[in-house]
Amino acid sequence: MKIITNSPEETMDIGFKIGKTLARGDIINLNGDLGAGKTHLVKGIARGLNIYDDITSPTFTIVNEYMGDIPLYHFDVYRIDDLFELYEIGFEEYIYGNGVSIIEWGNSIKDILPKDVIDIEMKVVGEERREIEIINFNRELI
Ligand code: ADP
Ligand code: MG
Repeated sequence: MKIITNSPEETMDIGFKIGKTLARGDIINLNGDLGAGKTHLVKGIARGLNIYDDITSPTFTIVNEYMGDIPLYHFDVYRIDDLFELYEIGFEEYIYGNGVSIIEWGNSIKDILPKDVIDIEMKVVGEERREIEIINFNRELI
């Protein structure tokens, strides 16, 4: 599924709709260049899970944890250069735990991700235009 958005708000709205479809154990591998809108999409997803905290990029902390209808584990693995760092913070307990995991830059650790993850690829296609491609996601956005 491919979606075009024309503002950060529209991207958050798509995130909201994605969030509404998510269930415990879902893992999203979220990729796209810097500024593509990954974190904005996560803001919307969080809202869809009834999380009202301010969602910030976990670039330095690797993972931020939020509690909504179900837990949300928001990773940014951009700066990871040693998988050991990930195991140390309990990566596997998170992704095989009972929340939803979203991994920004997950392609850089694809080898250790399960095969059935939802893939989201974001692209800058204009100043405020973004393409959001969702793969392995057989659900309806309503
Ligand atoms: P990433 O996490 O991919 O680096 P962010 O969500 O942090 O991206 O930032 C995206 C930037 O692009 C923000 O400054 C946002 O205001 C801007 N932007 C412009 N148009 C859009 C859009 N359609 N969707 C999402 N962000 C957009
Ligand atoms: Mg980000």
